[in-house]
Order: sequence, then structure tokens, then C-alpha cells
Amino acid sequence: SKVLVSGANGYIATWIVRALLERGYAVRGTVRSLVKGEHLKNTFKSYSNQLEIVVVDDITKDGAFDEAVKGVDAIAHTASPVQLSVSDPQELILPAVKGTVGMLTSAAKYGSSVRRIVVTSSCAAIMRSEPETITLSEVDWNEQSPKEVEEKGQDASAFAKYRTSKVLAEKAAWNFYETQKSELPWDLTMINPPWVFGPFIHDVPSLNALNTSAKLWYNVVAQMDKGGLSSDAILTQPGHGWVDVRDLAEAHVLALEVEAAGGERIIISAGSCVWQDFINAAQSVSTSRTLPKAVPGDTRYAIVFDTSKEKRLLGLKFRTMEETARDVLSDFDRLEW
Ligand code: NDP
Repeated sequence: SKVLVSGANGYIATWIVRALLERGYAVRGTVRSLVKGEHLKNTFKSYSNQLEIVVVDDITKDGAFDEAVKGVDAIAHTASPVQLSVSDPQELILPAVKGTVGMLTSAAKYGSSVRRIVVTSSCAAIMRSEPETITLSEVDWNEQSPKEVEEKGQDASAFAKYRTSKVLAEKAAWNFYETQKSELPWDLTMINPPWVFGPFIHDVPSLNALNTSAKLWYNVVAQMDKGGLSSDAILTQPGHGWVDVRDLAEAHVLALEVEAAGGERIIISAGSCVWQDFINAAQSVSTSRTLPKAVPGDTRYAIVFDTSKEKRLLGLKFRTMEETARDVLSDFDRLEW
């Protein structure tokens, strides 16, 4: 069968494409320009008869995915901006919401063979902060970030803007699905990961081209003094969760396959973390780099994600922080930044 993957050139999506190809699926990947598909084609040369790249240049246009959804059996919608530097929150909200609803609309109109749509949402759509550690599950919704954006607009924090885009996109998707599901040949699954780290196989010609989460990891764990995240405070400040990108890709494949995942949002988290945990993990496996020193102090997890639904429905085996750190560091060594 054939799976449509939107934003196929992205950090997470490239791993999803790989996992699908390795399982024998045919993949149609959407990218914003043909140039952005070149690296995918090269990376997966040995699967050239299974991989097709199509251009969807603007996912906010009505009917943007009308052609792309034709003839596919399932869809993984990952395309959405992950940026922490926009001033106008609409720069994130518009493509997140319109891209997601647009994909569902096109699938409802022209995706007669589609049976499952998996959308990459985020724990950003679930999380909130409280003075004490809280356990959150799929019943929780982030109401704090949309409120902050509503009240402060451009002055809202970068995280609040991004998280709001994920909340609104996921809500819009469920709203679409709930109102139309009796007439749809497909069902909907949300994948909600926290921070995604791990090695990269997408196109990263320079450090500046790194995707946002990998760049943060690089700044904090491998560099410490770049990107404005160097204060000791951030290392031990309350953290939330993380997952290795390869496990997350596997989760997407399973979510496409497992019947009982239909109609569910599913948190995919390997565990709680603060940055200091990753620094410790990186130090324990690093051979070639001098890494920042551990900062002594208490760490507290602000959020513990309840992953019982993932265990029940998908049953992934998660990589450890040390494995993830080792493989990311070897990418950085390979790329010689
Ligand atoms: P990347 O930035 O690597 O990939 C994002 C993808 O979305 C790229 O293909 C990008 O295309 C596309 N995209 C971004 N903005 C637009 C836009 N305005 N119009 C059309 N396409 C766009 O990020 P990730 O791989 O990390 O993110 C993939 C998904 O995973 C997103 O939905 C994100 O919210 C979600 N996620 C990520 C987490 C993380 O820690 N990385 C955590 C939780 C969820 P182009 O290359 O052309 O810009």
C-alpha cells in the first residue's frame, strides 16, 4: 500500500519515510519545492521504485493536497512550522491549522482509498505548567498557551506561539473529524511527542540548517554557550519529556497499522528529562568531545507524561538517553561543525 507523507523532507518525516520504505510501503512525499526532494531521492536511491516526490508549494492554499491524496491508502501529515523566532503568531498558526484541515478536506474529497490519517501533533497541545509536578495524559489540553497568545499577541513567548499553533491545529482536526466521520472512509490518529531528539538523516548542509529541536540539543548539550540557552538555570529548570526520532518514526508506522489506534491521540514519550540529564548522558558516552560540565543541583520534572495508552496500543521499546546522545554526537562529529 501507499502512504502520503507531508513535509517529507523534515527531520522527523525523513525517518518516517525510511521506516515506511523499509517495511515495504510505497511512499509519496510532499515537499515545498523540487530541490527539497533531491536529498530524499538520493538518500533512498535503493528504494527508487517505491518513492515518489510531489510538490505542494503552499499548504495554506485551498485544495493544496487535492492531487496528492489521490490513490493513497493512508496519510502521515507532519508538515507544520517548528520555529521559535517568529514575531506574529499567525506565521505558525496559519500553516499549522490550514495545512492540517486542508489535508483532511482534500482526503475527504479525493482520498477515496484512504483508511487512516495520522497527524503529528505534539505534547505542546497537552502540556501546562503548575508549581508542582503534574502527570498529564491524552485527556489533557494545553489551555495556557492559547490564552497567553490571545492576551499578549506578538509579545507572547516563543514557546507559547508554537504550542498554540499545535493546540489549534489538533483541535481543528478533531472538530473536522468528529463532525464528518460518519461519511468518511478513514479515521484519524494523533501522535503527541514531547521533545524529539536523535540523529538526523534529512538535509543538513550547515549548522544553521538544523531543525529546531536538534539545534537546541546542539546548543545546550554540545555547545552550552550558543543560542542564548547557556545559563545554568535552564539545565536544571523543570523539564518535560523526550523521545528518540527513530522511535517516533516507528510510532507513526504502528499508528498507521494498528486498528485500535483509530480515533485516538497517543502520547509517545520515552520519559521525563531536564537538559542536565542529556548533558550527563552525553558525557557518559562521549569519546571525542569536551562537553560542558555537569551542574550540581536538584532537578525536578515539571511534567510526567502518562504513556499507558502507548503501551497498550503500540508497545514501543524506547531507546535510552545514552543511545540517543551517542548517535547525535557521532552525527555532529561526522558533519565536522
Ligand atoms: P522540521 O522543521 O524538520 O520539519 C518541518 C516540515 O514541515 C518540513 O518539511 C517543512 O518544510 C514543513 N513546513 C514547515 N513550515 C511549513 C509551511 N509554512 N508550509 C509548508 N510546509 C511547512 O521539523 P520536525 O521534523 O521537528 O517537525 C515535524 C512535525 O513534528 C511538526 O508537525 C512538529 O510540530 C512536530 N513535532 C516536533 C517536535 C520536535 O521536537 N522536533 C516535537 C513534537 C512535535 P520546509 O523544509 O520546506 O520548511
